Amino acid sequence: MTADITIRNARILDGTGAPAFGGDIAITGDRITRVGAAGPATREIDARGLTLSPGFVDTHSHDDGAFLRYPGMEFKVAQGVTSEVSGNCGFSSIPNEPGRKYMPGDIATGGQTNWTDLESYFAACMAAKPAINNIMLVGHNRLRASAVGLDKRAATADELAEMRGEVAKAMEQGACGFSTGLIYEPGRYSDTDEVVALAAECRPFEGIYATHMRNEGDKLLDAVEEALTIAKGAGIGLHISHHKSAGKRNWGRIGQSFARVDRAEAEGQKVTFDVYPYTAGSGPMWQYVNLDHIDPEWSANVMINSCPDDPTLEGKMMPEIAAERGWELTEAVRNVLTSPRGKQVVCTHFIIDEADIETNLRDPRVMIGSDGIPDLKGRPHPRLYGTMPRVLAKYVRERGVLSLEEAVRRMTSLACDRFGLAGRGRIQEGAFADLVLFDPATVQDTATYPDPKQEPVGIDLVVVNGQVAVEKGKHTGAGSGRMLRYRRE
Ligand SMILES: [Zn+2]
Repeated sequence: MTADITIRNARILDGTGAPAFGGDIAITGDRITRVGAAGPATREIDARGLTLSPGFVDTHSHDDGAFLRYPGMEFKVAQGVTSEVSGNCGFSSIPNEPGRKYMPGDIATGGQTNWTDLESYFAACMAAKPAINNIMLVGHNRLRASAVGLDKRAATADELAEMRGEVAKAMEQGACGFSTGLIYEPGRYSDTDEVVALAAECRPFEGIYATHMRNEGDKLLDAVEEALTIAKGAGIGLHISHHKSAGKRNWGRIGQSFARVDRAEAEGQKVTFDVYPYTAGSGPMWQYVNLDHIDPEWSANVMINSCPDDPTLEGKMMPEIAAERGWELTEAVRNVLTSPRGKQVVCTHFIIDEADIETNLRDPRVMIGSDGIPDLKGRPHPRLYGTMPRVLAKYVRERGVLSLEEAVRRMTSLACDRFGLAGRGRIQEGAFADLVLFDPATVQDTATYPDPKQEPVGIDLVVVNGQVAVEKGKHTGAGSGRMLRYRRE
């Protein structure tokens, strides 16, 4: 049978961490039908000098709403990302009542919605012809905003039952697990028992608990303890999101965090992580600030990404804004946040040590998650456009922190196995044809903090479910992405 596409003479990295080997692959329909020497095909692509690997998986995205606003997902697919995990940090687009506003500056959905549950959200995404695949976590902040509101109090028995029912429903419909963002409102008002009860609804499905922990700074180790307690109590695996120790006085402490996790694993718990390859975090600014006690050290390290009331502030550091306006530093933070649309401000904060990024990347349990926030009206953190190429360029090629085979394994088979993307993450006959063809010698992120909306170079071809999505820097508009259900093809 004539294949649809052959990719010939590639260096093939199969995603398992094995060394590259030379050969061809054939694609028929949405699958890889041959690995080795391939016969004739309708379309032949010569990949001499290039490396072919499974498509990359962004294990930490906030693109629930982006699948509808920007179904071309150019900022991700240009990086070689063919699948991602959305619904992170407790911010998911489900459950949903059409038209209801759940939270100011909702990074997950950001506006129009006409779905109610995972099934109807997936249908809405598919109607938009997404460029890449998506698997979902159901998020605690959303559940709590829905059942309890933003009140600072414990959930009642009825509210807890409602939230549990929504987790179970999402899991039945194919979510891969439950996420929390315990640093954020309203998730931070919950106690550990509430989270255990909700996470436990994933147990019959062997889903996972993914967490933006309650604290990533001074109380990092307490937060790791709580995350382990929750996963253990729920009887499911733990995934620690964007593992870091924030704030200069805490730098280096992720070593202790890994050591604590090692002990838990020795006792039978299963723990994985993700990291983004940047020294700055990013998110809804109001969530990080107590207006009664604005931290001057933090304020000095903040950049504004999106500011609907004053776009001239976008891309500027807070000390620069304060100097320009003649404000004190903390007053500048207050003025930005208390403007009419202050809760829609997204910021970047430089809080992470470069050495901690390398420590993370050396650990075989750590995957790559962009944590990108797709607010394209402003100047988003460059991780939205640059994460995967930056790992390959800076940490593999330039610094040798991890090998190319290992980096690709983390971005492919490890992520697919952990998040239940069935039939994906490996180059083998019968697998889905999600592929990226790139040049390890030239692949490079080009997005910067002042100029973030830049696609990387050195990525020649991206294939999603057998269709070419990007070729030589051009988006084809194939729209061949799918909504994936946990461990189901
Ligand atoms: Zn987070």
